[in-house]
Amino acid sequence: MTKRDITSLKRVVIKNGALAGVVSEALQFAWTALTPDTMFDGAVLELEEIPLKVKCGDCGEEFLPEDTKYMPCPKCDALLGHEVLEGKELYIDFVEPADNEVPAE
Ligand SMILES: [Zn+2]
Repeated sequence: MTKRDITSLKRVVIKNGALAGVVSEALQFAWTALTPDTMFDGAVLELEEIPLKVKCGDCGEEFLPEDTKYMPCPKCDALLGHEVLEGKELYIDFVEPADNEVPAE
């Protein structure tokens, strides 16, 4: 099956990082507003949030802070200079074509 055979989709999975700056509810709202009459019409949008993961700038400890603004290192209490390892992503992870688009074998 080639890409151009897909005319409708059943499911789209989007990975939304904690720091990506996109609020899931806003994305969901935009989805329902923008998809009618496109190949995405009727497709279910699934958002998977990627938690923020940082590496301490002082001791190198990797941890998942509960707050994206205040993130003390659990090991040495350093607050600043952390390197963001995960959580900035925003991308389409998975697209599932509608059932009737799958060729019979
Ligand atoms: Zn540390």
